[in-house]
Amino acid sequence: MSKPLGLLKRYVVGVDVGGTNIKLGIVDPAGKVIVRNSFATSPFASSRIKLIGAIAQEIEASIIAAGLNKKQIAGVGIGLPGLVDYEKGIVRFLPNIPGWRGVHLKSILQKKVKLPVFVDNDVKIITLAESQFGAGQGVANLVCLTLGTGVGAGLILNGRLYRGEGNAAGELGHMPLNEKGPRCNCGGWGCFESYVGRRPLFALASRMVGKNGMTTQKMFALAQNGNKKALRYWRIVAQRIGNGLVGIVNLLNPRLIIIGGGVSNNEKFLFKTIAATIQGRAMSLQGSAFNIKRAKFKDDAGIIGAYVLVTNAQK
Ligand SMILES: [Zn+2]
Repeated sequence: MSKPLGLLKRYVVGVDVGGTNIKLGIVDPAGKVIVRNSFATSPFASSRIKLIGAIAQEIEASIIAAGLNKKQIAGVGIGLPGLVDYEKGIVRFLPNIPGWRGVHLKSILQKKVKLPVFVDNDVKIITLAESQFGAGQGVANLVCLTLGTGVGAGLILNGRLYRGEGNAAGELGHMPLNEKGPRCNCGGWGCFESYVGRRPLFALASRMVGKNGMTTQKMFALAQNGNKKALRYWRIVAQRIGNGLVGIVNLLNPRLIIIGGGVSNNEKFLFKTIAATIQGRAMSLQGSAFNIKRAKFKDDAGIIGAYVLVTNAQK
């Protein structure tokens, strides 16, 4: 499935657009990040023209900082947090950055930087990074889950990224678990994200400890010290995550579930219970065929994934 490194003799610029920061990096032909840069999104969030201008400027600056010229650059890969039409290069909608609806980012940016540009959803790009260079190397069927503010996922099926008809497949966070559950940002009810997103997990922590302002980080520290309430908290969180994955395991029969995002730092209090919860509820064949691993990449995931995106597109 994955081709050896170094087939592409040129470099790639990876751009990871987030609601808080925009990260850029240059990836060398061996898949290593050689230059990194980042800037805050907020000064440009009010105008998408300004934001695209800032991205273009930083792309140029990064190429210069790496001591390269444009002939050595195979292309630019950009991941964005929202609905992105990979085929047409259009950003359909970004829930956390206002004003981004129907933006032809690929064609606008190609004119500015005079390089081939590829755009995709950020979690799909992270999934490509983990599949090609990270925890999922050599695995043909996997689910890559990111647990952060929200919940996202990417699917590798039969060795390829599964996109769905509108490049919108993988919205595991919006898998409905309870028709009477809490209202979700997506317009639905009782979605997976409304049980394991950042807000519900912080709320659960405060409720269990009986103190406002509790976070998953604080609960992790308490659990490290053997605090019983915190240990129980992580058991409940793991069961919630496991319960949300049972249907996916039955449906897709993956070999591997990769878990990334902030919550995955608490691997030692989570993974065993997640696996046991899934095994206890899934059908027997699917329930005995999967592993859980932590994502390999953190900050660089979007940049390394952009490299995979560009090289795959140019094969
Ligand atoms: Zn939802």
